[in-house]
Amino acid sequence: MGVRMSSKSCRFCSKPAILRIRYSGLLVCKKHFIEYFEKRVFRTIQKYKMIREGDKVLLGLSGGKDSIALLHIFTNLQNTLKFEILPLFIDLGIQLNNYSQVSSEIVKRNCKKLGLDVIIVKIKDEYGFSIDNVSAKKLRRPICSVCGLIKRYVLNRKTLELSVNKVATGHNLNDEATFLLQNIINTDVDLLSKFGPIQPTLEGLFVSRIKPFFETYEDDISLYATLKNLEYVDTTCPYAKDASTLQLKTIIANLENIRPGAALAMVKGFYKKIKPLLQSIREEREEKITKCKICGMPTSMEICSFCRLRDRIAKTNF
Ligand code: SF4
Ligand code: ZN
Ligand code: ZN
Repeated sequence: MGVRMSSKSCRFCSKPAILRIRYSGLLVCKKHFIEYFEKRVFRTIQKYKMIREGDKVLLGLSGGKDSIALLHIFTNLQNTLKFEILPLFIDLGIQLNNYSQVSSEIVKRNCKKLGLDVIIVKIKDEYGFSIDNVSAKKLRRPICSVCGLIKRYVLNRKTLELSVNKVATGHNLNDEATFLLQNIINTDVDLLSKFGPIQPTLEGLFVSRIKPFFETYEDDISLYATLKNLEYVDTTCPYAKDASTLQLKTIIANLENIRPGAALAMVKGFYKKIKPLLQSIREEREEKITKCKICGMPTSMEICSFCRLRDRIAKTNF
């Protein structure tokens, strides 16, 4: 959203401006940046009709700045939009640097402060393995791809068990631009056909998924979290160095330096103009969805990717 500034006054008050908002050129102070940021997220929620009165929204929390910022924004909006928040933390069992335990404690403290009960899912207890037990080499699959699959599966399962009608995640604009770049490189039209700030409900299979930070830059979320003094996990996951998406994220950041606003234009433009052209691919994909013979969760194959993964992890560990 902006470029850090000094020595000039805020557009809305006489306090020193801390940044210039990229889109409007407005100079703003701390208070007015926070206000602008929150209004912008609220507008995204309204624009894409993400939340309706009476919704029961499962919010996936990792403890990172994005999901923690979203937790605080949701709590502020709860009365205005009249919906229920169910915060959920997936304990992946990452013992290196005490990563999962530290993240879990931070999530619990944030929820306690906001008067919310957090649901904790320990994958070791529920499924018998943790991310530390996953051998990326033996599975011939990057650990973050395995981790992503597990997180998506757990979230889906919990939506059914908890009878929620929506799932919210803290994916930001930079994540979305990276997703686009990655899947354009891979020409994965199946995944590209799913792109967007909101996934509609597929009756009996998937509840609607929403991404309120779809149009919000990552560095603005960092600034918001810092200015609001939010407690979040600021250490990187020990497995993150393996993430090839980090390199793509750097490319997006470099692109933004050359052409400010490029990521926003790309994400909005793709959603508005290109995604509708992929509608038939999406429909074809949805028609193939059935239920896994083992766990009953949605899949396009006989056995879902999670059950196949679980089986392979069990085999590679013996
Ligand atoms: Fe999982 Fe990779 Fe994220 Fe770590 S960096 S939490 S392994 S997806
Ligand atoms: Zn001001
Ligand atoms: Zn399954």
